[in-house]
Amino acid sequence: MRITTYGFVALGLMMSTSWVHAYSYRTCGGSAQKFSRNTVTIAPSQASFGSDDRLMAALRYTINIFFNRNASNFDYRIGSIDRSRRIRHGDGKNQIYFARRGDICGPACAYVQKDCYWFFGWERGVKEIDVGFSSDTRWDFGNRFRRTNVSAWGGRFRPFYSAALHELAHSGYLGHEDRFYNVMGEDFTHLHATVNGEYIPYVGEDTGRGLVYLYGRDNGQTDLAASPFVRVGSNGGYSDHSWGQIRDAANGRVVRWRNTADGRRFEVARGQRVNATFTYENVGGTNHRNVRVGFYISNDMNISTQDRRIGGRRMNMNLDTPWSTGTSLTIPNNLQVGRTYYLGVLVNDNYRVSESWLHNNQAYHPIRIVR
Ligand SMILES: [Zn+2]
Repeated sequence: MRITTYGFVALGLMMSTSWVHAYSYRTCGGSAQKFSRNTVTIAPSQASFGSDDRLMAALRYTINIFFNRNASNFDYRIGSIDRSRRIRHGDGKNQIYFARRGDICGPACAYVQKDCYWFFGWERGVKEIDVGFSSDTRWDFGNRFRRTNVSAWGGRFRPFYSAALHELAHSGYLGHEDRFYNVMGEDFTHLHATVNGEYIPYVGEDTGRGLVYLYGRDNGQTDLAASPFVRVGSNGGYSDHSWGQIRDAANGRVVRWRNTADGRRFEVARGQRVNATFTYENVGGTNHRNVRVGFYISNDMNISTQDRRIGGRRMNMNLDTPWSTGTSLTIPNNLQVGRTYYLGVLVNDNYRVSESWLHNNQAYHPIRIVR
């Protein structure tokens, strides 16, 4: 009477789920399918991780830092190295591994095994996950988080970290989502940019909220964030992301731009009234009202309260969905023509909210002063 179903949750396959909430999940007998416990141990395979310290470090970053920072009580734990010769789906072991492209259902894939049957009561829940990566994909797992390596900034590699977050959230057991800027859409453009030219992957508000729905809230996480990326469309069940724009406030048109190693650089004039779009997220487990958000002109990518403040607004930041919105600002008159500056945003710039992480509070668009 035991019927075990198999879910192949691939990059490229959509789940046949009812889309009730912002995030998507699957149900069985009217209840959400999920793990019965809040901490799941996953073992790195010897063949893939055992001989590569950088890859092992990348996995530690992904799980211990990036994934487990999510807003929910759901966490992964890295188990001891798994020495199985072959990865078998359905052997009761949670494994993470690399294999040739033909053996993985996409660049990366979550194989989820779950029960859903009725025998004088529902037997349900996720029983096992295996997360596979194609060794034929050009992954960036170098532990340096160099933006110039990855496609969002014109590089040739795909971040292992954001793909892993996507697959681990599948395993938790969420589906794809195309209505919001989120990691269950296009993961390799769901990133923060740091002050030193690095990128930072993260779970994000929408997916974090999905995990909160399934596993409960982590009240200890307080974290607000901003990103230069926004959702621009939907593609096969995935949200498509690109740079937030700077528009001329007078006519609403996007100003001229070109892509650079620091992101999309917009051409503006001194005294010009512009509208600059960023995405704002509450990636912690607590709601915050009336958060102060400041806008700055900076000489470098480090946006701080030491920079020149050119505007501000207040936002209610509840844990719901990411909010991409434009803000009208005036480019100062005394900037130097021909120079590049950074038009930045700093969320919680009076530090009134005590946050677990502050590195993700800033985002910026490079601007060049053309007249
Ligand atoms: Zn997926």
